[in-house]
Amino acid sequence: MTPMGGKFQVFLESVEPLIRQLREPAEVVRAIEPHLHQLVSEDDWLEDSYRQAIPSKAYAQYLLHRPKDHAFSVVSFVWNPGQGSPIHDHCTWGVIGQLEGEEEEGRFRLTEQGLERTSIVVSRPGNISHVYPPHRDIHQILNRTATRTISIHIYGGDIGSQRRHVYDPLNGKTSPFVSGYDNP
Ligand code: FE
Repeated sequence: MTPMGGKFQVFLESVEPLIRQLREPAEVVRAIEPHLHQLVSEDDWLEDSYRQAIPSKAYAQYLLHRPKDHAFSVVSFVWNPGQGSPIHDHCTWGVIGQLEGEEEEGRFRLTEQGLERTSIVVSRPGNISHVYPPHRDIHQILNRTATRTISIHIYGGDIGSQRRHVYDPLNGKTSPFVSGYDNP
């Protein structure tokens, strides 16, 4: 399943060997970042069907590519204005690239007292971020703007079926969740 054009294909061909070759999550995300930066620096390759917000949901999550062995997955996230995610983790590595609009990323760490926010970063088109367990895996994405935003994410494994967690901001308590996909 690869519905997008040449730039997306070039991205896949660049990152797939790195993903299959490298073992350490920190190395994988560092190796992918320049390629995802290049992909999201131009906004002319993502098909319209993967840019659609879903009015009843805070955000839509469309699978763009997943190899047969599910070694990784590439997803477009489309955020409605003023909407956000819960605080969540991924339980795998991930690299995030901003394609359209501005998203705020809050990062958290779990302490004995509960959740502690360590930073807030605003991501603009072309900007890149990453996550990986165990110490860099908890965050929250907010679209505080009045327009739709789109970001492109790549994860180790199949993020739609990955068992992971949302966090209660008050006490850090976790609840399991599996995100699935919104592809029609
Ligand atoms: Fe996330």
